Amino acid sequence: MTSSWKPDPLDDAGAETTPEPAAPGPAPQLARTPYYLEGLNPEQRSAVEALDGPVLVLAGAGTGKTRVLTTRLAHLLTMRRAWPSQILSVTFTNKAAREMKERVSALTGAPVEGWWLGTFHAMAARLLRRHAELVGLKSNFTILDSDDQLRLIKQLLEAESIDAKRWPARLIHGVIERWKDKGLTPDRLKPDDAGDIAGGRLIDLYRAYQERLRTLNACDFGDLLLHNLAILQDNAEVLTEYHRRFRYILVDEYQDTNVAQYLWLRLLAQGHKNLCCVGDDDQSIYGWRGAEVGNILRFETDFPGAKVIRLERNYRSTDRILGAASGLIAQNRGRLGKTLFTESAGGEHVLVRNVWDGEEEARWVGDEIESLQRQKTRLSEIAILVRAGFQMREFEERLLTLGIPYRVVGGPRFYERVEIRDALAYLRVIAQPDDDLAFERIVNTPRRGLGAATLKTLHQLARGTRVPLTEAALRVVDTDEVGTRARNSLRTLMGDFQRWRDMIGRVPHPELARIVLDESGYTAMWQNEKSPDAAGRLENLKELVAAMEEFENLQGFLEHVSLVMENTATPGADMVNLMTLHSAKGLEFEHVFLPGWEEGLFPHQRALDETGIAGLEEERRLAYVGLTRAKLRAYISAAANRRIHGLWQAALPSRFLDELPEEHVEVRADPGLGGDLRETGPSFAFQTPRQSGFMARSRPVTLDGVAYAVAERPRPDKAFAAGDRVFHRKFGYGTVRTADNDKLTIGFDHAGEKKVMDSFVVPADQAG
Ligand code: ATP
Ligand code: MG
Repeated sequence: MTSSWKPDPLDDAGAETTPEPAAPGPAPQLARTPYYLEGLNPEQRSAVEALDGPVLVLAGAGTGKTRVLTTRLAHLLTMRRAWPSQILSVTFTNKAAREMKERVSALTGAPVEGWWLGTFHAMAARLLRRHAELVGLKSNFTILDSDDQLRLIKQLLEAESIDAKRWPARLIHGVIERWKDKGLTPDRLKPDDAGDIAGGRLIDLYRAYQERLRTLNACDFGDLLLHNLAILQDNAEVLTEYHRRFRYILVDEYQDTNVAQYLWLRLLAQGHKNLCCVGDDDQSIYGWRGAEVGNILRFETDFPGAKVIRLERNYRSTDRILGAASGLIAQNRGRLGKTLFTESAGGEHVLVRNVWDGEEEARWVGDEIESLQRQKTRLSEIAILVRAGFQMREFEERLLTLGIPYRVVGGPRFYERVEIRDALAYLRVIAQPDDDLAFERIVNTPRRGLGAATLKTLHQLARGTRVPLTEAALRVVDTDEVGTRARNSLRTLMGDFQRWRDMIGRVPHPELARIVLDESGYTAMWQNEKSPDAAGRLENLKELVAAMEEFENLQGFLEHVSLVMENTATPGADMVNLMTLHSAKGLEFEHVFLPGWEEGLFPHQRALDETGIAGLEEERRLAYVGLTRAKLRAYISAAANRRIHGLWQAALPSRFLDELPEEHVEVRADPGLGGDLRETGPSFAFQTPRQSGFMARSRPVTLDGVAYAVAERPRPDKAFAAGDRVFHRKFGYGTVRTADNDKLTIGFDHAGEKKVMDSFVVPADQAG
């Protein structure tokens, strides 16, 4: 059938004007059941073969929902129900989209170009590019990243004279984002919806933000769907075009769609009404980002006559894993409830291991992985799923030490995170004042009035006199080369750096790092940004400081980091997968490690504080997602002592451990811990961590010496003397009054007396 797929009459180029093409042809007379249907169980098969009308597959983890969707796509093509470009398939991640394309094209041999298969964002962006002018954009619009979005909001706050300290841009941005998730444009909001945020002016701000975006020919992520909704609702002919085009719509992970996504699907599906959604209410884990599990429950009302199919056989996990996961999720009250069974009996118990602290946890996980490796388990069949990003570092370090390759899925590695790079940049400038890149990175972070103009001056001076930027900065502070405010700010910063540098060797280096982050205003910068994101960054910073304890000195630590950063992963290689539980949705691995099952970390305290029972139940669903990723074995660990926010805390085992049915669990305690912590709970006093195995890796470096000294570099010969006529690019012509090394006091003809750097001055006869 391969060749019959070319050319697709509905490829992107001619789509708007092409009348609805007939389906590719009459259904072929199949001599026998296509092979891809053969392995399916009867329910799965009915979900695949129910090609007409709305279908909802509501089923637990690992029951083959994604498999049903992929097979259905293949079947639609085989049965010639539609051209590939007449099927809209929405997946949750780009990775899932890629996998689906590969699988279907292997199944059918059909070429994948022009397929409407991808994430909500990707599909909405594609539609928007084709009709951008209908919402006042050009088709080459930019999609702004979150940094740019925030910058825009900050500008608006400033323009409206709204106190950004009281109403941080991130908070405003967060509220607007939630509104967008709900499909709410400014004109759909009532004044009450905004409460007293930004003095009751939030809706106006939202409107202004949208106008600014339009002027910039840009949009944010939420807009992609909002603009789509506007286009489809206000332009009947466009809607009709897409009704005709999308004969079939397929959606994976339906439980995590938000209102805007739901409205979008509902609009598009009203044409042929061939919408097939698969999902699991027990795996809804994006409530905090506006997902509405109610969308699943509403399906039958929105699409009367919908066929609802339940799958109950789990093909992924052993009975032990499934038993443990089912017992856990049964504690949630707000659920539809379903039965799950597996024929994979006799699996190994879920292993629960109590360890002393995070470091021992990482060591234990590393040991287990090594032993799996010896048993010929492929590394890519192993995953470590953490609740919070900061937990990753200890595992990364351990895997590096053991030489086990790993990849961090869905996010940067620990030392590549913005906040960590910033913090390291401060430390690098302290340890090594010549480090221009580091200096440049943090000179105005947090903002201290040292913007592009100042930096340009510093660069010119540094280049002209061949000194590092910090040296140029020191020279500039007692001149008029930069404005008064910048100069004062620079003077303070350089003074701070000197003070911090003097502390090297006198203050323990983790303490020094803490001081630097606090005194520089860096910590406060994130504290003032009130968003869930900022909280995670602060946790990471604390984790960084904690990590430094494992090294003898600052230099040793920095050296270790540069080695870690060099270790870049080769794509496609066999590697352990390290990721957050949220990114693990839909994936499966033979062996899954679930560390950090302690109260406060998992369930996460923030979820409990912010949304109480609802938050707890979402955390429990997250635990369920984690456990059900495992095919052969799940390994859970809980540490008795955890360094959270930089402080050692006696940790209580997670309540989720108690909720695991005993018959499926094997508890192993660290011999030193004395028994089953699930029963007794730990009562450990504050402990200092034991010396780490990493010590051997960090090479001791003496603190004094050439690395810390500013290298003396030759300066160009340009001596001026009192009485010389000179020209300065900013102040114009003048006469040198006094010369003190590289600093000149000059009486300018128009600007009066100024102190300037000699490298910014040329003899008057050479000016212009
Ligand atoms: P999740 O809820 O985690 O997204 P899911 O319901 O989408 O899970 P799939 O990922 O589609 O489940 O399937 C889980 C595993 O079971 C996969 O490895 C899949 O290939 C396998 N599987 C599904 N159906 C069958 C079947 N009928 N026969 C054999 N294996 C199957
Ligand atoms: Mg799936």
